[in-house]
Amino acid sequence: MKIAIIGSGMSGLACATRLSKAGLAPTLFDKGRGIGGRMATRRAEGGYQFDHGAQMIPAKDATFRSVLNAARSAGHVAEWHTGESEGHMVGTPGMTALSKYLAHGLDLHQQTEITSVTQTDAGWELTADKPLGTFDRVVCTAPVPQAIKLVGTALSCALDQVAYVPSLTLMVALNRSIDAPDTQTNPTDALAWIAHDSAKPGRSTQNCWVAQASAAWSATHLELTKDEIATLMLDLFLTHHALDATDVAYATAHRWRYALVTQPLGQPFVMSSDETLYAGGDWCLGPHIEHAWQSGTAIAEDILRAA
Ligand SMILES: Cc1cc2nc3c(=O)[nH]c(=O)nc-3n(C[C@H](O)[C@H](O)[C@H](O)COP(=O)(O)OP(=O)(O)OC[C@H]3O[C@@H](n4cnc5c(N)ncnc54)[C@H](O)[C@@H]3O)c2cc1C
Repeated sequence: MKIAIIGSGMSGLACATRLSKAGLAPTLFDKGRGIGGRMATRRAEGGYQFDHGAQMIPAKDATFRSVLNAARSAGHVAEWHTGESEGHMVGTPGMTALSKYLAHGLDLHQQTEITSVTQTDAGWELTADKPLGTFDRVVCTAPVPQAIKLVGTALSCALDQVAYVPSLTLMVALNRSIDAPDTQTNPTDALAWIAHDSAKPGRSTQNCWVAQASAAWSATHLELTKDEIATLMLDLFLTHHALDATDVAYATAHRWRYALVTQPLGQPFVMSSDETLYAGGDWCLGPHIEHAWQSGTAIAEDILRAA
């Protein structure tokens, strides 16, 4: 059976690894340069590194915990103890380490944006900047607004009820260490989270920080340019820590338009009426990495059940 998976975030990887374990060989396509989707690590000029998407990997689900424990034994995740929390798993040396570990051995095509998914008598034809072939099953794990555009009309269920909030994120490298906690939750009205990224286990960088704007501030400033966002957020960050521009070695911003799910669908996936096209992701079950993992795994189980 030829299976295409659109997206190499946690849901696409969970689906692919489960199918591979069962002896199938899915093909993954991702439009990004890196893998992992919103579990992202940015490496910047100057040797700086920032986890600018997901910060930590909570795992309530026992089977997901066992995946994390295996990754931990292999050295790709580690526990991060901060003043605020007893210990949360993080990827090491960056959040993308878990994705790279799961992707090992998979047939993955990066920088390949799927632009159309069309059903023919032979199956589902996928197109990027060129035709990519025909597949018996297609799994789309893009965020809902993108999934609707790509495969919405083929799905047997409307996805309009799913809602997200955006997150504007600042990455800043300081040229000296500062006296501030490694994590700060809701430190100001405008900032929802500040993390001392370099304090996470296994980082080779120093003084790299990540700040996320609150959902309200992000929504208000969403359409500014990235430079404008960086300027405003840097000002918030510096003011909060009583620093000034001379302390800054590097700063940039990232816009996550669909960052955190606030209203999930409430079921692990959706599919076409002929059960050959699937859509899933964190948006099915909740706002976290493990919800993406649960959705991707459930899709794989359904494909295997019907095979
Ligand atoms: C700022 C931020 C902070 C977060 N913090 C946490 C946290 O601390 N803990 C936590 O558990 N969760 C956190 N999350 C949420 C977590 O990152 C997500 O729940 C999870 O990563 C979603 O995985 P996914 O596979 O469903 O989607 P994604 O990771 O979004 O993956 C979808 C993939 O599909 C690809 N794609 C989309 N369209 C196409 C196309 N047409 N062709 C090819 N590829 C395509 C994208 O490039 C992407 O790689 C955070 C998210 C953000 C943005």
